[in-house]
Amino acid sequence: MSADLYGEGVDEEDIRRERAKAREIRKSRWWQTKLSLGVCYYCGKKTPAKELTMDHIVPLARGGTSSKGNLATCCKECNNLKKSMLPIEWDEYMERLEKR
Ligand SMILES: [Zn+2]
Repeated sequence: MSADLYGEGVDEEDIRRERAKAREIRKSRWWQTKLSLGVCYYCGKKTPAKELTMDHIVPLARGGTSSKGNLATCCKECNNLKKSMLPIEWDEYMERLEKR
């Protein structure tokens, strides 16, 4: 894989490092507390902790990092939507949610 696949200034090494950081954060009390709140960051739906996943608000491939400000709890529905949508479509979806 070449670095051209990712956004500007993002290379595979960065992504690997950020993924490792995310794994560590998953074990942290901060993350456990977020999970225990049981709410999807995106749609705001009540979701059992075991069904919430960790999501990078700005994807790593787009230059996002595994910092607390860029990590969010995500329900399966939003996770699937995000995967199936183009980044631009997801951005539009988020804008719609924010306007509600
Ligand atoms: Zn959701």
